[in-house]
Order: sequence, then C-alpha cells, then structure tokens
Amino acid sequence: MYDAIVIGAGVSGLMCANIMSRMGAHVLVLEKEPKTGGMLQGFSRGGTAFDTGLHYVGGLGPGESLEWIFRYHNLTGLPWKKLDYGEEVIINGKSYLIPCGYDNFAMGMAEYFPHQRENLKRFASELKSVSGGIRDLEKDRLPLYERSAAEFLSETISNETLRKVLTSMGPRMEMRSESLPFYEYAMITAPFIESAWRLDAPSHTITDVLAKQVTENGGEIKCGVGVDCITQNEVRSKDQIFKAEEIISSIPPANMMPMVKQMRDIYKKRIVSLPQTGGMFTAYLLLSPGMIPYVNHNISIDNKVFIHFNVPDNQQNWATTLEIMMPVDEWPQTRSDDYFSWKADLAGQAIAIAQTRLPGLSRAVKEIYTSSPLTWQRYTGSASAFGIRKDYRSVLTTVLSPRTPLPHLWLIGQSIGLHGVLGVSMTVLNTLSQIYGLETIRKELSL
Ligand SMILES: Cc1cc2nc3c(=O)[nH]c(=O)nc-3n(C[C@H](O)[C@H](O)[C@H](O)COP(=O)(O)OP(=O)(O)OC[C@H]3O[C@@H](n4cnc5c(N)ncnc54)[C@H](O)[C@@H]3O)c2cc1C
Repeated sequence: MYDAIVIGAGVSGLMCANIMSRMGAHVLVLEKEPKTGGMLQGFSRGGTAFDTGLHYVGGLGPGESLEWIFRYHNLTGLPWKKLDYGEEVIINGKSYLIPCGYDNFAMGMAEYFPHQRENLKRFASELKSVSGGIRDLEKDRLPLYERSAAEFLSETISNETLRKVLTSMGPRMEMRSESLPFYEYAMITAPFIESAWRLDAPSHTITDVLAKQVTENGGEIKCGVGVDCITQNEVRSKDQIFKAEEIISSIPPANMMPMVKQMRDIYKKRIVSLPQTGGMFTAYLLLSPGMIPYVNHNISIDNKVFIHFNVPDNQQNWATTLEIMMPVDEWPQTRSDDYFSWKADLAGQAIAIAQTRLPGLSRAVKEIYTSSPLTWQRYTGSASAFGIRKDYRSVLTTVLSPRTPLPHLWLIGQSIGLHGVLGVSMTVLNTLSQIYGLETIRKELSL
C-alpha cells in the first residue's frame, strides 16, 4: 500500500510526487509512455534535440512568479538563458519588441503608442497585482475567472492595434474573446512581462531533474504502465493492481472518466462533454549553419505563426534549429494521405510566413520534422494543446475542482485551473492544500 499514486509523469505529476515524497510520503508514479516528461518529453533526430511542449518560461527572476516554485524543485540552477524581450510581435509587417519588467514594459510600449501611456500603466499594474498574489494559496480566484479577458482589454486599452499586440504574445493560450477568463490571460501573460527565459538544454531536463528527486526521496516511477481502471484506493493496469491512500491523476479528465468505477454517470458525462482547447501544429527545422542568425527572443507573426529558437552550441551565434508553431482548430483524424499532405502544406505555410521575418529561411532548411494534434494524442493521450477550455461565462463547470466525487481521487494538471508549467505547478499546490491542509503546504513551500 502506497501513501499516494500519481498517474502521469508529466511536469505536474512529477512536481506533485516530488513534494509528497519530500514530505515523507511513499509515492508511486505510473506513466503509460516508456519515458517520463509528458508534454515536455521532446524528441531527437540524427542526434539533434527538439522541444515539444516547452519553449520558454516567464517569471524566473528573483522574487518573480515562477522562481519560488522552481527554487523549491531545484530547477533554478538549470542553464536558463534570459531573453532580450518578452516577445517580438509582428502585426501587418510592423515589429513591436515587448520589454520585460512592468515599468519598462509600460514605458517601452508607450514609445510605439504614446497616447496609451496611462492605459499601459494601468494594464501593467493590474497584471502585476494578479500575478503578485500567486503565493496566496487561500485566495478565492473565482471572481478573477468570472471576468472576461476581452472586456478587461477593451476597458483598459483603447487602441485596437495595441490590443492586438497584447493578445499576440506567443501561442500561450487560446485568445477566444467569447470565453477567455481574465485570470487565465493575466496569469499566462504577466510572468513573461516580468522576464522571459529559454532553457539551454532539452526541456525534458526539467522532468528528468524532478524524476531524479522523486526516486532519491524514496518514490518509485514506473514507465510503460498505462492505468486503465480506477476504484477507491486502487489503480489497475492490465493485470497489475496498485493500492494507495490517495490517488492523484494528471491525465486529461475526459480520458480518465471511463476508467473510474464507483462514480455517478452524471459527473462523468459532464466532464467528458466539456469543450477542449484546439491543437498545435509544429514544424521543427534543422538549419544549415551560418545562414540564419540566432534570435534571443521568440517571435509572433500576425498571431498565426510563432517562432522559437534553440540556443545554438556554436560561438558564431548562428541558429542551428528552430521551431515554428501554428495553432489549429481542425485536423485530419487519421493518418491518411490527406493527413500527410495537410502537414506538408502547413509546414510550407509556416516557413513562408516565418521567412517574412527571417529572409533566406527556406534555403537554410536542411530537414523538416512536423508534429500535429494527432502526434500529441499519440504521446500524451490528448490532441488538445491546453486541456479543457476555461470559460468566464461558466466558471463553475469549466474550472474543475481538484476533488472528485470518488473519495481520495484527486485531479491535477493543465485541465484543472491553468496550463503552462507555472499553471500546472499551481494546480499541484491547490490539490495538495486540499489533501494535507493549507498550513502544511504553506510551511512546506515556506510561504
Ligand atoms: C506546442 C506547445 C507548446 C507549449 N509551450 C509551452 C511553453 O513554452 N511554456 C510553458 O510553460 N508551457 C508550454 N506549453 C504547455 C505545457 O507544456 C503544459 O501545460 C504542461 O506540460 C502540461 O503538463 P501536465 O503534467 O498537466 O500534462 P502532461 O505533460 O500531458 O502529463 C500527463 C501525463 O500522463 C500520461 N498519461 C496519460 N494517460 C495515462 C494513463 N492512462 N496511464 C498513465 N499515464 C498516462 C501522459 O503520457 C503524460 O506523460 C505548451 C504546450 C504545447 C501544446
């Protein structure tokens, strides 16, 4: 009998297992894939590593939004490279460099939009106050979820182009004006206004470090063990049975529902029917050396294409690889001929758009690899980029409670609360606060 079983060895599952095992619990992590990492597992081709679900993080500077969590998990010592800007946003051919630091941000953006100076200050101060409250685990965030992000933007910023710039910073969330909650917008945007960082190592280094700590703390991680049945205090995978006091699941809740016995159908049906966010197409490019200069920030073009550079290992500062992401709402459902031509077509479009900012890109491409929502489905169990779509109009149904109707079965991960590395680490703290009590978790995190 374990104290806890954590289902899924992505960043949320491993952070959860790390905290619990550090607090003395005997923890077992079960992962269906042959390796840990989940969305961060990445891949390599011909010895070159490519990142899948992490291209940068925000708020890693001292005292900022993510730093205290990463410090707890011993992740601040990884080779983080600070980026020059939060983002470069290009709209209709004009480039806007988003400075980091709330004051710099407001002043820098006011140079592009002088009449919006006061509005930018208000925008920055609202985001700062929301992200500044991140350590307050007790705070009721429902009112922040119930506010519309689009309304916040139109109330704060009166210039339409500036609003576009402020909603085009990275493919970090779905910018659906009819549903996006203010809290999601603020918490995904603010850390990158604080500071932006790229890891000079494959992104699975983060989950490798977490997994190592879990085992050093006495925890166990079993990969290649897909959970297919959950009952109270018990988890099954084919013919294996594991028992625990608490079961904490980081897998997409809709996938989990059919596995759970002893739960009312009405709850299961509600969870399965929740809309999911759209998918992501990515073209991973291997470049000929000496053709495309390395850019030390991410670039967004017309909110369609998002370019991420990997830190090159040469001294000349030429890019050797880069990734171009494109959010997609529809995609072929099977790996048919249509699917392969759809991918080739999107890769061509992605490179053509990226080339407007990076002249000579298509000539520099040596190899192209692609991933689609079907790839995500295959490796993580979900085609959706950011899990359940949160909706400010129906917060009580779309922002799930960590607690399920089955006693001792809990939820964490990107479908609960917020997505992104910062977002899912907060889902872990919220869930653990319910299991252990707020004070215990506060003490553990030195809050
Ligand atoms: C293209 C893209 C780019 C992104 N870029 C960034 C970025 O730059 N910065 C950032 O902060 N965030 C980024 N994100 C978001 C971030 O990657 C995710 O929010 C985060 O990794 C989710 O972690 P998780 O633990 O909730 O889920 P996952 O990583 O999906 O973990 C769930 C795990 O459960 C396992 N599992 C599923 N079913 C079972 C089962 N039946 N039994 C056992 N195990 C199971 C899966 O294999 C997986 O390992 C990006 C996302 C996408 C799609």
